[in-house]
Amino acid sequence: MRMKVKRWNAIAMWFWVANDENCGICRMAFNGCCPDCKVPGDDCPLVWGQCSHFFHMHCIPKWLNSQQVQQHCPMCQQQWKCKE
Ligand SMILES: [Zn+2]
Ligand SMILES: [Zn+2]
Ligand SMILES: [Zn+2]
Repeated sequence: MRMKVKRWNAIAMWFWVANDENCGICRMAFNGCCPDCKVPGDDCPLVWGQCSHFFHMHCIPKWLNSQQVQQHCPMCQQQWKCKE
């Protein structure tokens, strides 16, 4: 059990390091906010998908609405599902 948790942390860190520091949809930095918001912070949080990519909370619905067919992650083309 303890080992599992340790391993999960290592993977999460790897994803964090490997990820782009900019939102794949609006290309704004994650330490800032999406183009619709003026102040970064709690009003413009990030959402994680099950594929481990993450985006501004306000960018994902815009991206999904622009898709004609199935909803997929803009980075890896896997089906998009929000991670709780
Ligand atoms: Zn964004
Ligand atoms: Zn926003
Ligand atoms: Zn993805």
